[in-house]
Amino acid sequence: RAKKSRRGGFVMFSAEMGSDIRERVRLLQSLRSAVESERLFIVYQPQVDLITNAVVGLEALIRWRNEDGTFVPPDRFIPLAEASGMIIAIGDWVLRMACHELVRLQGQGAKDIRMSVNVSQIQFRNPEFIDKLKSALSDTSIQPECLELEITESVAMEDADFMLETLHSVRELGISIAIDDFGTGYSSLSQLRQLPIDRLKIDRAFVSELSDDVMGGHIASMVIELGRNLQLKVIAEGIESEAQAARLKQLGCHEGQGYLYAKPMTSVLLKDWLKERGAIVGI
Ligand code: C2E
Ligand code: MG
Ligand code: MG
Ligand code: MG
Repeated sequence: RAKKSRRGGFVMFSAEMGSDIRERVRLLQSLRSAVESERLFIVYQPQVDLITNAVVGLEALIRWRNEDGTFVPPDRFIPLAEASGMIIAIGDWVLRMACHELVRLQGQGAKDIRMSVNVSQIQFRNPEFIDKLKSALSDTSIQPECLELEITESVAMEDADFMLETLHSVRELGISIAIDDFGTGYSSLSQLRQLPIDRLKIDRAFVSELSDDVMGGHIASMVIELGRNLQLKVIAEGIESEAQAARLKQLGCHEGQGYLYAKPMTSVLLKDWLKERGAIVGI
């Protein structure tokens, strides 16, 4: 028996996996030093009303720039930050920075623009999350109605009472909730109906399927229909072409976000962009 398990153990740690683990450890070490030397920053991507073209929101997206100028994409380091627990501190920092940014923009004349912040399941599950949210609100003096949290479908659907409780607590603070990457998970409709949420965010994969041909876009159109029935707002992410925007509008989608309108921008560039769009008046 012992022999068998030892052999099993041996198989598990193949040379390939060893190098994968070494790679992860290396990446984690450099993430730590990136946090310490402030090489993380935030970019903001505008969200627009598809009918009026007005800027209605901004999504805060984290960036990590190495000393050599190369970037590590969030899809690579967020999972690592989650596994190591660093996401709690990083996520709290993103939240505060994003709130500050919006308050600053409002001071410069931006109106009716909300800030969307991605929240990891690890943050959301943390028992201190609501307290952290409250202190971010009071420290930055952002109006809670202007703040939206994006959580993924799998987090929202988790079958745990405290999850639902946390969602309700967020809502009670006046903050709204969007379900990110909607359509990629396995939501049960009866569960979805009971969730205290405000918005569905159609995943980019289903937006890129949209084209003039009738066959594409079935999922996008179902999500929009679902939103209509459940009285939820719907936003599409990853809009890259006029054809996609037109189709979404035709299907009744309220809002959109994507390279067609703007790529995520640093705080400095964002201010100029908003000015040019007339979303910031004067000063
Ligand atoms: P997400 O929240 O679904 O963000 C949308 C992603 O699509 C962003 O990638 C954005 O830059 C990209 N995108 C937007 N418009 C277009 C488009 O028209 N075409 C294409 N090809 N891409 C577009 P990004 O910034 O690399 O972020 C990837 C993911 O990393 C995010 O997906 C989110 O899940 C996660 N993430 C980013 N920042 C944070 C953060 O502060 N906290 C947490 N927990 N996760 C974050
Ligand atoms: Mg998001
Ligand atoms: Mg998304
Ligand atoms: Mg996505």
